Amino acid sequence: MRLCLTCRHMAPAGAPFCGHCGRSFGGRLCSQWHLSPPSARYCVHCRRTALSDPTSFIPLGWVGPGITVLMFIIAATGIWRVAGRPVEAMAVHLLRIGIVLFIFSLFLPPPVRSGLHRTAVASIGFLGKMAGRLIVFAARWMIAQIKAKP
Ligand SMILES: [Zn+2]
Ligand SMILES: [Zn+2]
Repeated sequence: MRLCLTCRHMAPAGAPFCGHCGRSFGGRLCSQWHLSPPSARYCVHCRRTALSDPTSFIPLGWVGPGITVLMFIIAATGIWRVAGRPVEAMAVHLLRIGIVLFIFSLFLPPPVRSGLHRTAVASIGFLGKMAGRLIVFAARWMIAQIKAKP
């Protein structure tokens, strides 16, 4: 994904133009798809003057995986730090991380924010599913233990 810094809309990775404002990413393009610097008045390859308006952009391919890795690191350090402490301390710690991430996300442009929230919801869903499986597994084990008793 590419974030257009002129209109703040997203475009697919590798797209030459922004689909919202029609500007070309990273330079000016002539009708023959030659890329010239953003400041060029003529195409540097064929000297055509009909060039697209350029826009700067941020490649966002790393955002999803990056946030996921960051959340895992935070979770891992959180678990390490609260190891040996009561469960309440861990809950408070996780809540604090959530608040920090939420405030941090408010300063990001809307497309990144929605992507972040999607990742967060997916991560919480995944953790919830894992916790559910763990509880089912524990319950089965306990039932098996009770049944095994004479
Ligand atoms: Zn745009
Ligand atoms: Zn050209």
